[in-house]
Amino acid sequence: MKIVLLGAPGAGKGTQATRIAEKYGVVHISTGDIFRKNLKEGTPVGLKAKAFIDKGQLVPDEVTCEIVAERLKEKDCEKGFMLDGFPRNVMQAEALDKMSDVDLVLNIAVDLDKLMARLTGRRVCRECGESYHVSTFAGNKCSKCGGEVIQRADDTEETVGKRLKVYSEQTQPLIDYYTAKGKLQSVDGMKPIDEVFAEVVTVLDKVK
Ligand code: ADP
Ligand code: ADP
Ligand code: ZN
Repeated sequence: MKIVLLGAPGAGKGTQATRIAEKYGVVHISTGDIFRKNLKEGTPVGLKAKAFIDKGQLVPDEVTCEIVAERLKEKDCEKGFMLDGFPRNVMQAEALDKMSDVDLVLNIAVDLDKLMARLTGRRVCRECGESYHVSTFAGNKCSKCGGEVIQRADDTEETVGKRLKVYSEQTQPLIDYYTAKGKLQSVDGMKPIDEVFAEVVTVLDKVK
């Protein structure tokens, strides 16, 4: 299966992606995770991306599209992949159309005004990227891999506000873009995590 996870920051893309990867064995490609890994390792891509990530803006399309194009050429993507956080604007969606023919775009629909609490309370594993929330998670050890769980530098109220604006202006139009292509399917991301996943499975079982 070749799928795209679409949704606002905090919609639950990463959370559902972990579960989808586990159940369907599909490769999970998160552009945010790729940028953060490059940042940690101090690569040229990481240095370029840092200023944009810190400001809650999108990293330029040339940089982002190049990374995804290279990643999709790797052998583990032959049987399929799941993109999380890409595409994020129409230009990236058009670039993706040239790289591959995706089966389905899974839109995790949420109320934007409920996302601030999710994002400022989010904690993530530095090693595997698993998302947690302060309301249900204590300590600093990832239950999946034992890695250190931290708060992302861009999960502050100020930067989240900017990221939600970027979403409304640049990413939300992709809902129409993929609806017009007949590829969009939405699930209700306001339900509890397990219930969202049950809806996701209903949709994905038809794709397999
Ligand atoms: P995204 O990858 O779309 O930015 P995450 O999967 O990282 O979002 O989730 C953002 C935050 O919201 C995390 O703290 C996560 O634990 C929490 N979360 C994810 N899905 C739900 C849900 N359905 N209900 C409540 N909280 C959720
Ligand atoms: P979230 O889902 O919480 O918004 P991500 O981890 O997907 O977070 O993205 C974090 C940051 O990485 C974004 O705010 C942006 O600066 C950068 N980024 C990730 N994916 C892309 C992309 N496809 N295009 C441009 N910038 C991106
Ligand atoms: Zn982990």
